[in-house]
This record gives sequence, structure tokens and C-alpha cells, in this order.
Amino acid sequence: MLFDAMVVGGSYAGISAALFLARARRQVLVIDAGVRRNRFASHAHGLLGHDGRPPGDIAASGRADLMAYPTVTWVDGKVAKAHVLDDAFEVQLESGALYTGRRVVLAGGVTDTLPAVEGIEALWGQGVYHCPYCHGYELEGGDVAVLAAGPAAFHVAMMLPDWGRTTLYTNGMFQPDAEHTAQLTARGVRIDSRDVRSLSRDDKGVRITLASGESQSVAGVFTQPATAPAGDLVTQLGCALEDSPIGRFVTTGPTKETTVPGVFACGDIARAAGSVPLAIGDGVMAGTATHQSIVFRPH
Ligand SMILES: Cc1cc2nc3c(=O)[nH]c(=O)nc-3n(C[C@H](O)[C@H](O)[C@H](O)COP(=O)(O)OP(=O)(O)OC[C@H]3O[C@@H](n4cnc5c(N)ncnc54)[C@H](O)[C@@H]3O)c2cc1C
Repeated sequence: MLFDAMVVGGSYAGISAALFLARARRQVLVIDAGVRRNRFASHAHGLLGHDGRPPGDIAASGRADLMAYPTVTWVDGKVAKAHVLDDAFEVQLESGALYTGRRVVLAGGVTDTLPAVEGIEALWGQGVYHCPYCHGYELEGGDVAVLAAGPAAFHVAMMLPDWGRTTLYTNGMFQPDAEHTAQLTARGVRIDSRDVRSLSRDDKGVRITLASGESQSVAGVFTQPATAPAGDLVTQLGCALEDSPIGRFVTTGPTKETTVPGVFACGDIARAAGSVPLAIGDGVMAGTATHQSIVFRPH
């Protein structure tokens, strides 16, 4: 069977794109490996109508809505290879299964590489976060820290005093210049340039232990993981990438089409800094644009 569109990634962006294709009565294949980026967090914030719900429940509701449409095929699995054919695309799953479609929508999200500090992985999404808008409010104005992973730490540290009394641990990853220091000081941010040895859980939230042995307890830590598109389908298909201060993402135009005609991308994979509502919005754009590209550019 030749699908109208094959959506790689069945989370917020992919489900949203597939929903709009299904509502246009098109044959859509969704292939999903089931490894959402926010799987470490117990609650997701900032999505209208779902604020504070477990992120897996939100994705499951979206999938249930999508599967009510008879033209949708869902396959649990991971796409390992993708090729451009003459007038279509072919994807191959790790299982070996092959599928072809007239369009591809890349919605596979990103991977996060955390700074190399002992204990950080165990606290990711549960005390250590990337986004104050998503998780800052729940820290209830307690002390907070920025663990620098690069120059983007300045941006986060400037914002963070709106969520709590802030210490910026530069940890050898970011050296504020005089202008940075003046701006951070004006915002009330304390700058600590000593090395951080480890993070661990404690009664207040997270204990930050320095190489010197001294420690500070905070309600939450914010860091800036380096992000990159999950997997290498983007390069297999030849899509252009671009860089942001926190990592690479797929270049798309206003309709979410990549530099490869017929390949669309949406959600975190195709923007510098993503969120659930932005992924859903991107999915709407990619889904409708994918449909219209089939109508207006059938060949
Ligand atoms: C700890 C943490 C907490 C967060 N909290 C919030 C929050 O409170 N609010 C908020 O708005 N945002 C939050 N985010 C951001 C949010 O998780 C992302 O913006 C959102 O998940 C992006 O959706 P997506 O559909 O683009 O990608 P994802 O949700 O990451 O989903 C990508 C899907 O594609 C699949 N996939 C990847 N490659 C393949 C392949 N080759 N074949 C098949 N399937 C594949 C993956 O397995 C996955 O299921 C948080 C992020 C983190 C890390």
C-alpha cells in the first residue's frame, strides 16, 4: 500500500500532524518508538486544558483521538532507514518492515545531552529541569540554581529570579564578562564560579555539592542540555540542519517543509527550543501543509 503520508514519531507533534491528515480522509501511517522527551517528568505544564496532567496521559489521549479515524495505521517500532524514491519515499523499520508513502513527516523529537555532573541523570525532570516556564512555578518561590552548560546559561539566569532567589553556577562552562555580570547582579543573581562535584536529592529539593565539599540546597536546578535530532533519518534524507545556542534542528520553511521537497518536520526536531503546545501547533501546520502539497503538487 502507498500511504499518503508516513509520520515518523507518534508523540505530540506527530499525532497532531497525523490528525489533520486523517481529517482530510488521507491514508496516514504513524510509526512510533515510544520514547517521548518528557518521559522523565511526572507532570506537564503549560498546555491549555491539560495543565499539570502526566505527560503520558496527554499523549495517550491524543493517540486515542487519532485512532478514531479509520484511515490511520499505527505501528509501534523504530524507523532505521529512509530513502527518497522517484515519486515517493520508503522507510524501513528496525524489524525490517518496509513502508512507502507519498510524503514523510519527521516528528521524532530530540535527544538531550546533560552536562557531565555526577547525579544529574537521576534528577532529570524531577528536580533538574530545562525550562522554567514548564517547571519553575511548582518550586513555589524557593531558592533555585542555574547549572551552566554553555553561554545559554546567561539567558536562563536572567529569567530565573522571577521564579526564586537565583545562584548561577558557572562550573567552568560559561564565563560572564563585565556586561553579563552587571546585568545578572542587577537582577539579583548570585554568581558562583567554583566547580560543582555532584547533585543529589534532599528534603528541600536538590543538594548541590561543590568540589570544595561545601553545598547548597535548592528547590530546583535549571540547565541547558545540548539537543540534537533523535536518530539520523534527517541526514539520510538529506535535510538541511541549522544551529541554535543549545543545539541543532532541522531547517523548515513557514509550512514546516524541509529543504527536501515532500519531507516535512514538526515539533522539537524542527525548532530551537520546543514545548508540548508548540509541538502540537507545528504538527497542525505540518499536517495541513503535507495534505495541501499532495493536492497542489501531486507529482
Ligand atoms: C524533563 C522534561 C520535562 C518537560 N516538561 C515540559 C512541560 O511541562 N511542558 C511542555 O510544554 N514541555 C515540556 N517539555 C518539552 C517537551 O517534552 C517537548 O517539547 C515535546 O515532547 C516535543 O514533542 P515532539 O512530539 O516533538 O517530540 P517527543 O515528545 O520527544 O516525541 C518524539 C517521538 O518520536 C519517536 N521517534 C523518534 N525517532 C523515531 C524513529 N526513528 N522511529 C519511530 N519513532 C521515533 C520517539 O520515540 C517519541 O515517541 C519537557 C522536556 C523535558 C526533557
